[in-house]
Amino acid sequence: MKIICIGRNYAEHAKELGNEIPSEPVIFMKPETALLLNGEPFTYPEFTQDLHYECELVLRISTAGKAIQKADASKYYDAIGLGIDFTARDLQDALKKKGLPWEKAKAFDQSAVVGSFTSVSSFEDKSNILFTLMKNDERVQEGNSALMMFAFDSIIANVSRYFSLNKGDLIFTGTPAGVGPCVPGDLLEGYLKDEKVLSVQIQ
Ligand code: ZN
Repeated sequence: MKIICIGRNYAEHAKELGNEIPSEPVIFMKPETALLLNGEPFTYPEFTQDLHYECELVLRISTAGKAIQKADASKYYDAIGLGIDFTARDLQDALKKKGLPWEKAKAFDQSAVVGSFTSVSSFEDKSNILFTLMKNDERVQEGNSALMMFAFDSIIANVSRYFSLNKGDLIFTGTPAGVGPCVPGDLLEGYLKDEKVLSVQIQ
């Protein structure tokens, strides 16, 4: 399986990092070794001094496809969950300045945390999904799929022009404003609507 991530999909987050608003989705990937399942502890990496959480809605691909049309896109994912796209912000800033790829800052071991998934059919309106990230019981991020610049079906159509999708692939759909640092000892908990679906202890 592969993990595909969308960058700068919320205008407020692009602004907080001083990035331009993209005219088509920014795409990057993480390898399977980046995956950390819900409830497993995350070990703070030794190569960063500025680890950031980015809480995101995650799509789970249910059917293989390539060059998928937007109108058909909803047939290709069956579940939505929450994930954390852990980012070594200091490394990312240094790499961006040099125009180098982001992998060291974004695709390291355990950098893709995923919580439990909820079937798509249980959402009344996919374009109005509220999610929240709590850090040590303080609300640090609140997002809504309504605020995404590229909605789920546009993302599937765009990504599948370049990469064949397989059953089990995951797509992180970008983070809203409010990203910030975390340190060993922090507890991150993600809520989809009002239900806790993700929990990760940083050690
Ligand atoms: Zn992200």
